[in-house]
Amino acid sequence: MAIIPVPQLKDNFAYLVVNDAAKQCGVVDCAEADKVLAAIKREGLTPVALLSTHWHPDHVGGNLDLVKAVPDIKVFGARAEDGRIPALTDPLDDGDTVRFGGLEARVLGIPAHTNGHVAYYFAALKSVFSGDTLFIAGCGRVFEGKADTMLASLRKLAALPAETMVYCGHEYTVRNLEFALTLEPNNLDLKAKHDWAVKARAASQWTIPSTIGDEKRFNPFLRVDSPELRATLKRKDPSLADDPVAIFARTRELKDNF
Ligand code: FE
Ligand code: ZN
Repeated sequence: MAIIPVPQLKDNFAYLVVNDAAKQCGVVDCAEADKVLAAIKREGLTPVALLSTHWHPDHVGGNLDLVKAVPDIKVFGARAEDGRIPALTDPLDDGDTVRFGGLEARVLGIPAHTNGHVAYYFAALKSVFSGDTLFIAGCGRVFEGKADTMLASLRKLAALPAETMVYCGHEYTVRNLEFALTLEPNNLDLKAKHDWAVKARAASQWTIPSTIGDEKRFNPFLRVDSPELRATLKRKDPSLADDPVAIFARTRELKDNF
């Protein structure tokens, strides 16, 4: 079993989820089919499934081209995306199980970035593909839901086992950590992650994956209970309510304008 990132566009990731024994793979998100197909060929694999996290073009813009090249591939994505996932063959609901090439993933409905955003959790691989909902040290913008919906979606991901590896949709890590440091300048785990990520990027390395356990230590959107984060927000606005949704919403708003 292996997970191979395939860089897409400016800062997107597609991923190959590989069953080495069967030489088969699934593809998580596809913006540029040519690059995904080149990676599949290089690894000597047969693609059998495409798993879309959400309808945004930087995640599904390559679906039609991939299906053209691999006509019998199954295309999975949320029914709740309402027909916006190109070439969808197998609509999914929260809690469904996706099976392909001897691999199995549980579908987690995690709406708010889009109504039908899903994550794919591969328990046997201790890995989750979180799309644009949970980034390393950040979260996606709330486009189609409200703050409470996004917070619930993030908590659903945070409830996965701590060792679960997080493979997200974009390489946004350094910028996310810079923002996080404005809220928790004394968080030592955060500082260490920031220094590590800056070095990794300077060496042209990706910062994925992270883990759920680590995210809880430095991701501000999973830290609405942090006293330091709350104190920083309250200094900016003493009238801010002491409620997780209000803290989350304010944190998201600040990040939108960072
Ligand atoms: Fe998106
Ligand atoms: Zn995206």
